[in-house]
Amino acid sequence: AKQFGSNQVRRDRDLVAKRDGLPPLLVETMLRQALQNGELEIHYQPKIHTRSMQVVGAEALCRWTHPELGHIPPQAFIPVAESSDLILPIDEYVLRSVCQQGASWMKQGYRVRISVNISGRQFMQDGFPKLVRACLAQTGMDPQLIELEITERTAMCDVERAVHVLQELRKIGVRIALDDFGVGYSSLNYLIQFPVHTLKIDRTFTAGIQSAVNQTPIIGAIISLAKSLNLSVVAEGVETFQQFDFLRENRCDEIQGFLFGAPVPPTSFQLSAFVAKLQPRAPQPTAPEEP
Ligand code: C2E
Ligand code: MG
Ligand code: MG
Ligand code: MG
Repeated sequence: AKQFGSNQVRRDRDLVAKRDGLPPLLVETMLRQALQNGELEIHYQPKIHTRSMQVVGAEALCRWTHPELGHIPPQAFIPVAESSDLILPIDEYVLRSVCQQGASWMKQGYRVRISVNISGRQFMQDGFPKLVRACLAQTGMDPQLIELEITERTAMCDVERAVHVLQELRKIGVRIALDDFGVGYSSLNYLIQFPVHTLKIDRTFTAGIQSAVNQTPIIGAIISLAKSLNLSVVAEGVETFQQFDFLRENRCDEIQGFLFGAPVPPTSFQLSAFVAKLQPRAPQPTAPEEP
């Protein structure tokens, strides 16, 4: 059995090398184990307020390091988890960890708005608003500092139910963002029914700022749409100064991308955001005067 085990691991590694060829059942088995073994951790990517250039928040992104196979990217395991019920404990784990982290930052005097990705399955789950309430209550995290990111597709798959859940979440006091906005079936007719706070421009549009097929009219339109609906607008995937300039000139409220910072562990986020970008709580000690 032992022999089989190590062969299996070798085979797994070969499959991971191919990545796209990873069989879903294998990922599912490994992921179940990963949850139990604490192999999942959360990284934080800064969100920058375009006008002030201050770090105003972070997006929490799940990271999986398998002891044998190393780093496995979310694209390789989130869709598999979503096709089974495994995404439920994953989303719950991420939400609870984020609330703990945010509450701990609050105790240190920093109010960091943290965005958490919520899968469609979790969002549509009967007890979801109750779960959010419990995570907040158990950790002491301020609801106003939590933003739940749901995709446009999630909201559109059952509009009536989505509107109901969104209203429940609003009562709790958390913020809601529509993630990957513009790539789904954005029916404007439905959009006005969703009580959300933020539109998050999908990064394919951001990437398209300099591409041959100019995407800037689409970004401009999404920003105007957000403004006229009184929503905040965030662009993801900002990698170049050219993209940044365009977004600033067009009054995109917040930006997120490798240009300003990749997702990093909480201690690194804390260092760069609190020390370098946010105002210190107390005045800096002045250097002693030369005699
Ligand atoms: P998303 O929510 O749209 O997250 C943004 C993705 O873009 C992240 O990929 C992030 O690392 C990446 N990104 C950020 N800035 C840049 C940039 O400047 N350039 C480029 N090329 N990419 C950038 P990641 O972490 O691989 O996550 C991929 C997707 O997996 C996420 O898309 C989200 O849908 C899902 N995901 C990640 N963590 C979780 C989680 O905890 N729960 C759930 N349900 N889904 C998650
Ligand atoms: Mg997101
Ligand atoms: Mg997104
Ligand atoms: Mg995306």
